[in-house]
Amino acid sequence: MILIDGKATSSVIKNEIADRVAGMIDKTGKHPHLAAVLVGDDPASQTYVSHKEKACKQVGIVSSVYRYPETIAEKELMEVIDFLNKDDQIDGYIVQLPLPDHISDDKVISAIDPTKDVDGFHPQNFGRMALNQPAYLSATPSGILKLLERYDIQTEGKHCVVLGRSHIVGLPVSILLQRKAYPGNCTVTICHSRTQNIKEITASADILIAAIGQQEFVTGDMVKDDAVVIDVGIHRIKSDKTKSGYKLIGDVKFDEVSKKAGYITPVPGGVGPMTIVALLENTVKAAYQEVYQ
Ligand code: NAP
Repeated sequence: MILIDGKATSSVIKNEIADRVAGMIDKTGKHPHLAAVLVGDDPASQTYVSHKEKACKQVGIVSSVYRYPETIAEKELMEVIDFLNKDDQIDGYIVQLPLPDHISDDKVISAIDPTKDVDGFHPQNFGRMALNQPAYLSATPSGILKLLERYDIQTEGKHCVVLGRSHIVGLPVSILLQRKAYPGNCTVTICHSRTQNIKEITASADILIAAIGQQEFVTGDMVKDDAVVIDVGIHRIKSDKTKSGYKLIGDVKFDEVSKKAGYITPVPGGVGPMTIVALLENTVKAAYQEVYQ
């Protein structure tokens, strides 16, 4: 079994991005700038945003965070979006999800200028991605593709089973992996909460991507020998074995599945760090107009 080390791979890619950014700054004088909008005080969202700030610093991207209380009105948040769309200093920005219930995610995301939508969530970027046109690819699916690529994993003609059909992970990664490209050219099956006989389907997967948000859902008996298993899930659970009192686990029961898989991502240290790297790459593309000219 080969452990797909997302942490080490992301460090290598971050160094490559840092070199590239330094070169572009020398050439153009332009420093890329990523902004994040953070609403409320959800601990997971705060952690993600601080990881993104730290990663920006490591590669020479300027970052700023716009923080608002949970009670911000939708109208007020839309004014923030309008401001960020118009601010020439900001190349790309993200709105950290989830937003409070009184604010429509769809409305906010659709209001983001697609040329600054470095999360790749805007319908225009999603549509371009599906049609294989230049687009910002959403960060987690893009990070998964980079892992497959860096580990030289063959995808052509393989059966890829994706567990989950969310707009941010399951659906886009399934579209990307069926594209006529590498990584891609897979025969893709998507499973969701209404799928019957999930175990039979996952057991036929050459590549299994688990993004269903259910702790350790994928067990050893659901996976075929030597399959490539990508675990997107992140769950913070109590633990008396760590100093913080918590530990992270995924959607895959690692102890069991790692005994059968050919390749597997751990949690933490698998897909998570790659998501951030993909966001950094999108920001660099935005700064130097490589997607939308
Ligand atoms: P989500 O929006 O909750 O979507 C979950 C998907 O799984 C849905 O399509 C749902 O089906 C399906 N599902 C749920 N329970 C199921 C079951 N028992 N059997 C079959 N399908 C089931 O989740 P998400 O945003 O895609 O995130 C998934 C996981 O990845 C979460 O743990 C999240 O924290 C993690 N995540 C990690 C990263 C990263 O950077 N590593 C990034 C994003 C998300 P229906 O559509 O039928 O409801």
